[in-house]
Amino acid sequence: MIACRDGGYHALSLHEGTLVIDRARCDGCSLCAHVCPEGAITLTRETGNG
Ligand code: SF4
Repeated sequence: MIACRDGGYHALSLHEGTLVIDRARCDGCSLCAHVCPEGAITLTRETGNG
């Protein structure tokens, strides 16, 4: 969340202890995945098929 915020995207937030991504704000930079010490974040590419 901090990395995303500092990157200026503000795409990540916590809701009742669950990390939530705002896809409209996400740039796909993958900074969050690189800095997560637990390796808990994985980025995938949307196919546009639903
Ligand atoms: S990939 Fe998306 S959610 Fe992750 S730091 Fe970049 S903008 Fe934020």
